[in-house]
Amino acid sequence: MTTYHQPVDAAEVPRFAGHATFMRLPAVASAEGLDIALVGIPWDGGTTNRAGARHGPREVRNQSSLMRRAHHVSGVAPFAVANVADVGDLPVNPIDLGDALARIETAMAGIVAAGALPLSVGGDHLVTLPVLRAVAKDGPVGLIHFDAHSDTNDTYFGGNPYTHGTPFRRAIEEGLLDPGRVIQIGIRGSVYDPGEHDWARAQGIRIVYMEEFVRRGAAEVMAEARAIVGDGATYVTFDVDAIDPSMAPGTGTPEIGGLTTRESQEMVRLLGGVNIVGADVVEVAPPFDVGGMTALVGATMMFELLCVMADMIDRRRRA
Ligand code: MN
Ligand code: MN
Repeated sequence: MTTYHQPVDAAEVPRFAGHATFMRLPAVASAEGLDIALVGIPWDGGTTNRAGARHGPREVRNQSSLMRRAHHVSGVAPFAVANVADVGDLPVNPIDLGDALARIETAMAGIVAAGALPLSVGGDHLVTLPVLRAVAKDGPVGLIHFDAHSDTNDTYFGGNPYTHGTPFRRAIEEGLLDPGRVIQIGIRGSVYDPGEHDWARAQGIRIVYMEEFVRRGAAEVMAEARAIVGDGATYVTFDVDAIDPSMAPGTGTPEIGGLTTRESQEMVRLLGGVNIVGADVVEVAPPFDVGGMTALVGATMMFELLCVMADMIDRRRRA
């Protein structure tokens, strides 16, 4: 009989009752003994326009009470094959960007050192930079990045290098990412400059614009993604603005003409075989949400990622 953490049984305690934790799992003080640590990063100090993603983790926890125990397509039952719990929110500082990044990195390094794979909810996309600093401590990792934006700009506001529009440029400069093993999917929308993505492409990043995704479809694009990252360590980051704002309006930088929720689910389900070392869902901004629908999208994408990660762990154990 498994001793893994289990969600509160919704046939005993209804989904709207009790403390809100990710997936109704126990809240634990440490990642010791966990295979996958669910964690919030409630910080949006890197946001350049509409703030609010700092409120993301709490609302995603709330909506994640709708997640059940098994995936209806893959049959994966993540809580049966992996030990998963909610380790709470990482410490943040809403009024000091540098201190916030340092706190996030230090706390995430503790989760990684405990041997757990982090699955986090932001926060704006800058939180992925300190997460990568912790996850890529032994060398650069690959990246599968779903987003409307490349997030590889250089500086904002008089040379400031740290915003949610710059994390992946900084990550490449810091040697956290192997740019030849980076693919960005869903990129679209107006840009500051026609050459805005030239730097990223010159590094070797593969950018799949939304229009190319529509032409080729999920199966083909994800086959390419799996080939690009190969079997090396790979991080998966899902910016909820990759999804069309008609389905995910609660985000700071919406762009029309985006992925559907179903296309997004299909792509995450095609991550099988990828050596995932961590993942996140970012940019859920509840102040702009409608009836919690974007937080539900975030929670559901988190569950999709969790199922893929738990299945990876289970396959390794059985190999
Ligand atoms: Mn982003
Ligand atoms: Mn974005």
